[in-house]
Amino acid sequence: MIDYTVTGGVCVLRLDAPPLNMITFGLLDALRGALRRASGEPGVRGIVITGGPDHFSAGADVALLRAATRAEDAIRTSRLFQEAFQEVEDSAKPVVAAVAGRMMGSALELAVACHYRVSARPARFSMPEVTLGINPGAGGTQRLPRLVGLEAALRMLLAGEAIDADRALALGLVDAVCDGDELLDRARAVLESRPGPRRTSRLTEKVQDAAANDAAFEEAGKRLARGRPEIIAPKKILEAVRAGLDESVETGLVKEQTGFAECMDTLATRNLIYLFFATRETGKIDGLAGDRPTGVARAAVIGMGSMGTGIAHAVILAGVPVVVLDADATALARGAERIRASVRKRVDEGKLATDRADGMLALLSTTAEWQGVADADLVIEAVFEDVPVKRAVIGRIEAACRPGAVIASNTSTISLDVLAEGMHRPERLVGMHFFNPAHRMPLVEVIRRDATAGGVLATALAFAKRLRKTPVVVRNREGFLVNRLFLPYLKEAFRLLEEGAQAQAIDAAMVEFGFPMGPFVLIDMAGLDILVMTDRFLSRAFPRHGPLSQVAVRLVDGGHLGQKTGSGVYRYEKGDRTPLPSEATGRIVAQVQQEAGRTPRDVGTDGITRRLVLRMVGEAFHVMAEGVAQRESDLDAATVLGMGFPGFRGGVMKHARDLGLSKVLADLESLTAQCGERFLPSGLLREMEGAG
Ligand code: NAD
Repeated sequence: MIDYTVTGGVCVLRLDAPPLNMITFGLLDALRGALRRASGEPGVRGIVITGGPDHFSAGADVALLRAATRAEDAIRTSRLFQEAFQEVEDSAKPVVAAVAGRMMGSALELAVACHYRVSARPARFSMPEVTLGINPGAGGTQRLPRLVGLEAALRMLLAGEAIDADRALALGLVDAVCDGDELLDRARAVLESRPGPRRTSRLTEKVQDAAANDAAFEEAGKRLARGRPEIIAPKKILEAVRAGLDESVETGLVKEQTGFAECMDTLATRNLIYLFFATRETGKIDGLAGDRPTGVARAAVIGMGSMGTGIAHAVILAGVPVVVLDADATALARGAERIRASVRKRVDEGKLATDRADGMLALLSTTAEWQGVADADLVIEAVFEDVPVKRAVIGRIEAACRPGAVIASNTSTISLDVLAEGMHRPERLVGMHFFNPAHRMPLVEVIRRDATAGGVLATALAFAKRLRKTPVVVRNREGFLVNRLFLPYLKEAFRLLEEGAQAQAIDAAMVEFGFPMGPFVLIDMAGLDILVMTDRFLSRAFPRHGPLSQVAVRLVDGGHLGQKTGSGVYRYEKGDRTPLPSEATGRIVAQVQQEAGRTPRDVGTDGITRRLVLRMVGEAFHVMAEGVAQRESDLDAATVLGMGFPGFRGGVMKHARDLGLSKVLADLESLTAQCGERFLPSGLLREMEGAG
């Protein structure tokens, strides 16, 4: 696990635990053993701990978390990591970390326990524990502030913010930056030039300005107040950091151990960890083992509208050349300019180096000629949502590209079987359903027809991963997965509005539940016309879902499409996206109520939440029963990544299980009696509940 070599008085300890050098208890033991051996060798003057030239370590094996649910196990895990890294810091001989790649969590905690650090460029440094709902447990809360100062440390610890090698150098997190192939030479040079061990826990220079510390803690306190009470990790991080500074590093380390155990004892943290594994499962497909993906050296996108632009952007971000074709020259120019402006903005914000941005933009080209896409290995169509238009475009792709090229459709509603009709080689059609904005949203639904070839599916999956997205494989069924749940949720929100609940109260209830925004703020952003259009397709496939509220229909008829027209469910001042109460919506709601002879009623927050959440939960069991998703955890990953279902609740199915299937079934039955068959529980839910 540790490769041990001594040359010229320097002992190099190379982590050797392929493929990712994940830190396990076994690796910690091996490291301690190797350190002691090096300490005892008289010929060794200094020690270098390193990994590969472009990758140091992926950090602690997350599987350790699964085994640390009991408090004593959590405390022991944290203590074993702390003790190992303390031994590194206590080494009488100077220790340099020579690191590269993505330095996350415990990998970084190991590096900061060394006396000096040399980093390859490019490298990224982050402490993402907080996103898993835990505090760092291997000394990170104690050493990081002493190395980079409190303010920078808290940003990394509380926000999981990643920094690059140059920023790390400026902050003092690393002592030198070089190319990967010079890493060991630079580490040796640092050993030669430094007086001896510099123990991070004893540094005080960057944490002794009381006023700066107060300001940093105050800022952190504000961040805490904005966070979810269910997730206690930020509070535990602050407690450990404070204890380390106000009392002693030893006290801070104990706080790390107990904080970690307390975090592991919460449902929110267990759900976040569950989700971590769920998102890694989605790409594993039954019966696909023998099918190899085709490499995509060059991609093409057809249609430079909102989606095509975002998809092309995502493709160049991943370093893949892409050509975009659109029938409309203005759309082509506008889309390309949007991508350029967005990349330039990242350069201006200091998030992207100019040469990397130039390299990325050079990967983008546009064309109006079908010949221009002929050499693409994968073509994604993102033209209008219209069957004849899409069929014609797919026909042109088949005529222009070689027979082995994969054809992916970004359709949101049209059955791929309908699009495959008339194709010469329909087995090469697959769905790749991106979410808006496609260069940011982390989910891609990969839609599989029964006839989609295994290799085609494997290529779509591999390509989605290359775009650093989470692919979820979905059977070809109307609405696929996310829209199948999201649309009923939006429709239910309009029904509540019609019954008398206030739009602001509905949105507030969902934010309280944990969504990043409420359904109406969201639909105003996306456009109510999209809701009406999508519902037209889905209500035909699922009559049980019932009609869309007349409130939504009349808002669209009246031109209230959302932010893009200055009014939707809410009203917007010019140039301002703050949702304001809309008189027009109020009038339409009153009119619809009057026509239906309905007396508006007060629906409390609990009533709103129950209806909206159970509408999604109920539908999720139907989706499972129909085999649309391969496994429950796929539904969880997709709902969190694709529609903002709160991660600390683990996703829609995990939430149902946490509520208890008997309670879910009873609630759905009572809602069916109260509201109608759209809440009808699926047979699968009854079976699962019956089976206990
Ligand atoms: P859009 O109207 O913004 O863009 C469509 C583009 O396709 C236009 O620029 C148009 O000029 C071009 N186009 C139309 N016909 C063409 C043809 N025959 N040849 C070449 N170019 C042609 O549409 P959009 O919102 O980007 O949606 C595109 C697809 O993505 C649709 O299938 C839609 O359902 C799907 N989708 C949309 C969203 C969303 O939120 N907008 C989300 C997921 C999926």
